[in-house]
Amino acid sequence: MPAADPYTVRLTPGDQPDAHVHAYVQPDGGWCLNNAGFVSDGETTVLVDTAATERRARALRQAVLASGAPLPRTVINTHHHGDHTYGNCVFTDTAVVVGHEACRSEALAADRQLHLLWPQNDFGDIRITVPSVTYRDRLTLHAGDIEVRLIHPGGPAHTLGDTVVHLPSQRVVFTGDLVFQGGTPFVPVGSLSGSLRALDMLRSLDADIVVPGHGPVTDPSAYDATERYLRFVADLAEQGRAKGLSPLETARGADLGPFAELRESERLAANLHRAYAELEGLPEGSPLDPAAVFGDMTAMNGGVPVACHA
Ligand SMILES: [Zn+2]
Repeated sequence: MPAADPYTVRLTPGDQPDAHVHAYVQPDGGWCLNNAGFVSDGETTVLVDTAATERRARALRQAVLASGAPLPRTVINTHHHGDHTYGNCVFTDTAVVVGHEACRSEALAADRQLHLLWPQNDFGDIRITVPSVTYRDRLTLHAGDIEVRLIHPGGPAHTLGDTVVHLPSQRVVFTGDLVFQGGTPFVPVGSLSGSLRALDMLRSLDADIVVPGHGPVTDPSAYDATERYLRFVADLAEQGRAKGLSPLETARGADLGPFAELRESERLAANLHRAYAELEGLPEGSPLDPAAVFGDMTAMNGGVPVACHA
């Protein structure tokens, strides 16, 4: 997969020269190509997420240093998925890893999840490193004078242990995978209803700059785009279930309309598994069979397993 090189976007407001806020974007934002970010006052740096491979995490480390910021003392994980967390081990010489308490338990349970999904991929020297500092509802860190708020959406959304990172004075939010810019949302590990509620929480923060979990830096219009897709999935699930169709059959018969432009359209089948589970009254975030979920995405992808792009 010939994706372009990662790039750093400076997000600092012009009237705050001492607040160094950057997004680190890995094109094309597909499977395993997540975003990260770093926040520094020039003395203390907080890193938001890492990368899926040792090589990519080391490139991120170089990008932090190239910005003039010191290496991070804190790494925040927006959730446990390996693309956001595998590279933690590249930063633990200087940093402590912080995440939601469920992110820690999910990361421990998932262990070398990317190796299992993509055994042929070269992840480099990865030692699974989970958050050693956890929180439940909210936690505030300070990079000098820069307030860095960690907010849990209150229940399952993309995963059980999501964290939104909000810089109120800079009006920046790092959403983790609650938002995929240009890509298809992905809720089988969390909750469709909870993802909709999480979007309301994001709106309430009133940020101007939105750093999604994957894809280019955007603005709050991304919340509406995500909501339109999730409501489309919920409606499809209701119709498909009423006709006695499986999630895969419903996905195959669906007209994606405007959502056909999103990357990873095969995720529709996975998202329908979650929507069906919620219609059947299963608790939000209850585990689904990963073999069924990934098997149906493979079927939607023309019989080819989805590829890790990292
Ligand atoms: Zn994720």
